[in-house]
Amino acid sequence: MNPEGTSLIENIAERLGTNRLILPSMRISDIIDILLVAFIIYNIVKWIRQTRAYSLFRGIMIIAAISLISYRFHFYTLTWIIEKTFSVGIIAIIIIFQPELRRALEQIGTRSQTALSAVFSASKGDDITMQSIDHIIAACMRMSEDKTGALIVIERNVAIGDIVNSSGVSLNADISSQLLVNIFVDKTPLHDGAVIIRGNRIVSASCILPVTNAEIGQEFGTRHRAAVGMSEISDAFIIVVSEETGKISLADNGKLRRNVGESQLRKAMKELVAKKEVKSFGKLWKELKR
Ligand code: ATP
Ligand code: MG
Repeated sequence: MNPEGTSLIENIAERLGTNRLILPSMRISDIIDILLVAFIIYNIVKWIRQTRAYSLFRGIMIIAAISLISYRFHFYTLTWIIEKTFSVGIIAIIIIFQPELRRALEQIGTRSQTALSAVFSASKGDDITMQSIDHIIAACMRMSEDKTGALIVIERNVAIGDIVNSSGVSLNADISSQLLVNIFVDKTPLHDGAVIIRGNRIVSASCILPVTNAEIGQEFGTRHRAAVGMSEISDAFIIVVSEETGKISLADNGKLRRNVGESQLRKAMKELVAKKEVKSFGKLWKELKR
């Protein structure tokens, strides 16, 4: 307390004018608003750091710093040039980063769909059985030994009907290891492209998948790129058998697991048949954050 009877803090508050500061009341919707904005900004920054946009982002920050300095010191010509460049620059950025922006929007759509269908357990038809999985594994091991190139897409929650319908040959056959091996035999009419499996059926063969632009390694060609590309735009589980090395790789959620053995393949596939329970909000959150 000082002689006037006011505390030091009150004194500082008086000087700063904070004692007249009235804090607005906070509603639940404001808190949700803040959390949503934080979530969006966090994901945008995370996305920028993973893409080519990061160097562009740093460039923008440098230009912003220069423009602040030039504005502060009244460099009129420089400020004018930066202002003009910026207004055109926004359109240029959208054009240059069109593929990245498109992928980002596709991923937002895919994740929301995965999360929602996970919550409502919207399975389309039967889930894949252990018997079908045994047939797929047997076929993959056989093709791996023979070095027969293969690409097998197992549909999950996200419907990939557009890929099936826009390319490929419709089969709608029961899954058997013999049929799978036969499809991929070199120089036969159906061996090129991917087989699509939905539930316990081979729905089609010779399907063309979208190819990824991500860095997956020099040693991998278009077959592996197509597997990763497909896993980026959907939650499908994809098995690749390399024609060059006979090695088996798995693509899931935009990532490639290289050189997996029979037991790893079996373990990964068993997770596909794990009983579908109605997922909690915790799981929904996990799917959205993925
Ligand atoms: P491998 O190890 O088997 O050689 P790779 O990753 O090196 O695989 P390529 O040698 O380029 O890939 O394999 C070419 C084959 O991959 C094609 O004959 C075709 O069957 C398949 N393929 C290539 N692109 C696609 C695509 N977009 N969709 C489906 N299949 C594809
Ligand atoms: Mg190759």
